[in-house]
Amino acid sequence: MYDCLILGSGPAGLSAAVYAQRARISALVIEKVYRGAGQITESERVDNYLGMYGENGYSMGVKFRKHADELGAEFYEGKVTAITKKSDENGIYYSVSLDDGKSFEGRTVIYALGTERRKLNVKGEAEYTGKGVSYCAVCDGAFYRKKTTAVAGGGDTALGDALLLSKFAQKVYIIHRRNELRANKALQEKVKALPNVEFILNADITEIKGEKKVAAVKIIQENREKEIPVDGVFVAVGSTPSSELLKDLVELDNNGYVVADENGKTSESGIFAAGDVRTKKLRQVITAASDGANCLFSAEEYLGLTRQVKFK
Ligand code: NAP
Repeated sequence: MYDCLILGSGPAGLSAAVYAQRARISALVIEKVYRGAGQITESERVDNYLGMYGENGYSMGVKFRKHADELGAEFYEGKVTAITKKSDENGIYYSVSLDDGKSFEGRTVIYALGTERRKLNVKGEAEYTGKGVSYCAVCDGAFYRKKTTAVAGGGDTALGDALLLSKFAQKVYIIHRRNELRANKALQEKVKALPNVEFILNADITEIKGEKKVAAVKIIQENREKEIPVDGVFVAVGSTPSSELLKDLVELDNNGYVVADENGKTSESGIFAAGDVRTKKLRQVITAASDGANCLFSAEEYLGLTRQVKFK
């Protein structure tokens, strides 16, 4: 039985792991990907994490991971399939089952499973995934040297992807459903200044067309249909919370985010939520890392409280 099971090894989970080591709390980090460090590893450049200006996302993830490793954090690789609330003579605990048939028990759970990339859900998207449709510009961008690409979305990810692609591709279209961008202003300025990037605003992608691989996107812009020849489509239309495993245990909001305050406290007293999966306004690496620390502190308090009750 662990004091704390930390689910997820992104910045939130790794930060919780660091704090657990320092608090001498027995903790196990369960991660889906071997030596993972979360979605940040797919960002080419991070400019807004204090003290790491201009850091590559992958190397940032490696540093986070190394920090937890050096303090002795324990990891197990596996996909969580269920979380079950149980009790014994010492009180409530949670059993976490994995896809390899193993399960682990913990008095508390820090849930830091983040979000999953949203799909466009248009014809051709599934068919051409891996054949010109990609959800990771850092992973696949270099394949589009001197080619024409489209990025779907108007947030930080979409514009960050366009910035990266502009270094390889001959032409990058940013296709966005509104005429206002959601991305931060500094990034907007950078991308707008690029000669090979063109914004197509107020436009919806209705189909991704091709033969064996992507050849064009079909869009509707101001009631007019158009086809734009492209070699690749990068989908960057946001994410949905990976909260499915908690739906019968804790309160979720209408969009599926785990309702939790900045201390990570959810509606279930032994379960804490950290990072992008919880309700919050600013989903960034820096807020995820801070969530991990807060959650571990809350778990420590909770464990202390339960022990106090026991010794009375
Ligand atoms: P986001 O901010 O939610 O933006 C998603 C974009 O996709 C929006 O422009 C949205 O349009 C559009 N969209 C959503 N659903 C769509 C659909 N079905 N069809 C077409 N377009 C759709 O997501 P994100 O850019 O992935 O960013 C997520 C979070 O991570 C944000 O908090 C962001 O600041 C953060 N982030 C930070 C960094 C960094 O700091 N380096 C890098 C990347 C991301 P509307 O605008 O019309 O809603």
